[in-house]
Amino acid sequence: MQTGPQPADFADVRATNLAVVLRHLRINAPCSRADIAAATGLNKATVSSLVADLIERRLVKETGMTERRIGRPATMLVLDGSPYAAIGLEVNADYMTAVAVDLAGDRLLSWRRAFAGSSSNPGQAAASIAALAKRAVAKVEKDGRRTLGLTVGVPGLVDGDGIVRIAPNLRWRDVDLRSAMRKALNEPPYPIEVENDANLAVLAEQRYGGFADAANLVYLTGEVGIGAGVICNGHLLRGSRGYAGEFGHILVDPTGPVCGCGRRGCLEALAGIGAVVSRALPDASASSPTELEPEVEEVVRRAKAGDPKVLDVLAETGRHLGYGIATVANLINPEVVVLGGYFVPLSPWLIPAAELELASRSIAPESGGTRIVASHLDLGAAATGGAARVLDTIDSGRLPTR
Ligand SMILES: [Zn+2]
Repeated sequence: MQTGPQPADFADVRATNLAVVLRHLRINAPCSRADIAAATGLNKATVSSLVADLIERRLVKETGMTERRIGRPATMLVLDGSPYAAIGLEVNADYMTAVAVDLAGDRLLSWRRAFAGSSSNPGQAAASIAALAKRAVAKVEKDGRRTLGLTVGVPGLVDGDGIVRIAPNLRWRDVDLRSAMRKALNEPPYPIEVENDANLAVLAEQRYGGFADAANLVYLTGEVGIGAGVICNGHLLRGSRGYAGEFGHILVDPTGPVCGCGRRGCLEALAGIGAVVSRALPDASASSPTELEPEVEEVVRRAKAGDPKVLDVLAETGRHLGYGIATVANLINPEVVVLGGYFVPLSPWLIPAAELELASRSIAPESGGTRIVASHLDLGAAATGGAARVLDTIDSGRLPTR
């Protein structure tokens, strides 16, 4: 509804205040209007007006009364999960994931399918991602929900226009994925964003993971590539063009194996999951990294059985990771480095070796307090983060139109 021009600062203040109320409810619900006023410092009339707006947009709902020790019973408020869905997708060298969550953060769907990312061309890949997105949108809309937005995570450098500049393990260069998605989804009314997968995964870790309070947090994707999502002083570290966090291309050994990026001896050429599987299971045909999950399970099985060859490979991989983590730790001193993706099931063997290497290469005493842990999120962390990014825009006060 057009209500005529308003001073920009008025609209900004209202959006900020709506965001304050939404975030308060996300953390503290159920709570009353008076609770919100007391906790946020907004006056009661303002809170009532903001809540009325949020209820009208079906972002918040009333949920009965509560007995209070003093005064009249108050109507309690909670986030209304039911009318909307936020969708995240993730494309990798060997699989794709789709996740949808509602506004309250409850998972509506979680799909995973094998995908030969390294052997399909960008056009085929975009068509496959778009097809998965269409199915996810159709599912949530069939259930009567409106799509708030959709974010796709890609293992590569993504610029501000949603163009994937380079994704070595998909062999993509300058792929305008956002435009391709918009076209495939018939120019939908909701925003579509494309983002680096590690950046999305660290947002998921910050919102749903075990270290949500950490202001300095690094998430490492344990895929064929190894990307780093970095939260620095509470904010995602993007760098000047959004290309920060290329952890996997830290040089470890100038005479090492050739990396997907064409250079030699990058960290991910030594410690990426493709490299781990092909060294730990030389008898398996891991030349084309399709569906690595069964092979990672086999590595775990042999490690548990005490296979000395596999244990050596995992210890060496842990040392390589520790070397890379020490480089990052000396630069930004994170509280915690979270190993994600396929590193999670391998973490009992990777972490001890990585911690020793980190301790020996850290200039700071006690590794600067940096801990290395396994993520509690599953393989779809970047997709979950894609959905979380959509919720973040709502939380920042950019509400869906009525
Ligand atoms: Zn490289």
